[in-house]
Amino acid sequence: MTPKTMKAVQIQEYNQPYHVSEVPVPRPKPHQVLVRIKAAGFCHTDLMALNGEFNTKLPFIGSHEPAGIIEEVGSNVMDFHRGDRVGCINFDSVCGKCADCQSGLPIYCDDPLMKGITVDGAWAEYMVADARFVVKLPDDMEFKVAAPLMCAGISIYGGIQRADVQKGGSIGIIGIGGLGHIGTQIAKCMGYTVAAVDIKQKALEAVASYEHSPDALILATDTVEESLLKIDQMASSKYRGLDATVLATDHPSAFELAAALTRKHGTMVLLGQPEKGITMSYHSVIYKDIRLVGSLVADTAAAQELVSIFHQNKLHVDIKEWKMEDAEKMRQSYLSGQGMGKNVVIM
Ligand SMILES: [Zn+2]
Ligand SMILES: [Zn+2]
Repeated sequence: MTPKTMKAVQIQEYNQPYHVSEVPVPRPKPHQVLVRIKAAGFCHTDLMALNGEFNTKLPFIGSHEPAGIIEEVGSNVMDFHRGDRVGCINFDSVCGKCADCQSGLPIYCDDPLMKGITVDGAWAEYMVADARFVVKLPDDMEFKVAAPLMCAGISIYGGIQRADVQKGGSIGIIGIGGLGHIGTQIAKCMGYTVAAVDIKQKALEAVASYEHSPDALILATDTVEESLLKIDQMASSKYRGLDATVLATDHPSAFELAAALTRKHGTMVLLGQPEKGITMSYHSVIYKDIRLVGSLVADTAAAQELVSIFHQNKLHVDIKEWKMEDAEKMRQSYLSGQGMGKNVVIM
């Protein structure tokens, strides 16, 4: 029997510390499943939601990176059953009417509701999810590994896909944090030559220690010439630099560096969202004919693909586990900038 109430990290006021409340267990609508959450990640967007940047109606439950077990299925749900192990991407619902919904691109819906951002999310014992945004997990994939894939993982996977580099080409992952440390491994598994770029030597060493390690490690404080020499050694191309760079950081100076490391006629994929906007010299971009591509998460099909890439290649997620009661400690640890990898709340 599903209980009537549950524990949840519910935001009652903007800009206030996280704390645990007792709230009703949601009931699934006909198109939804009720998921017993086992793990739910913390993402930068959670901070923005807490700070009221999405004008979320209060109170609401945070997190949009859930993994768990289906407890109940709505009457119209055919593809899932009680007991299925699943992850859910961050869409709660989409309008179904706008041009993108009509053309099969629901993640670009004009009027979406987002888990943990505009409606209740996953830092709770139970969560309802639209079955269209649910993916199945292999039996032996840990929930704490699956959870961060549902936003961080698919965001970087979507970004790498959108770089549209041919197999065998070169990709730089700029920023080796929650997204980047997953990205270097995925890019290797997709058959690319990979450069990892970060300001922290420790972050570079961490990805270098994984089985699917990058081909070059570039410290952001190295000169552009030193960095290009490293790229010359790993990738042979008629142009100097990387075929594409994927910006997985909000650090403003990373964008200019990425432009400098991207080859002529190459691509930059923008995932990072610096508060004050993105600045790059026109010289780096226009004179090199660099293509700038924005990338926003990825859809359910991509999430399912990523789950199998991860599972087949036994990729690594650097996880820091927290209890629900310690959600505020987790946030403080993130804000201090000292933690590495992905913070995940374990239920
Ligand atoms: Zn996110
Ligand atoms: Zn729509």
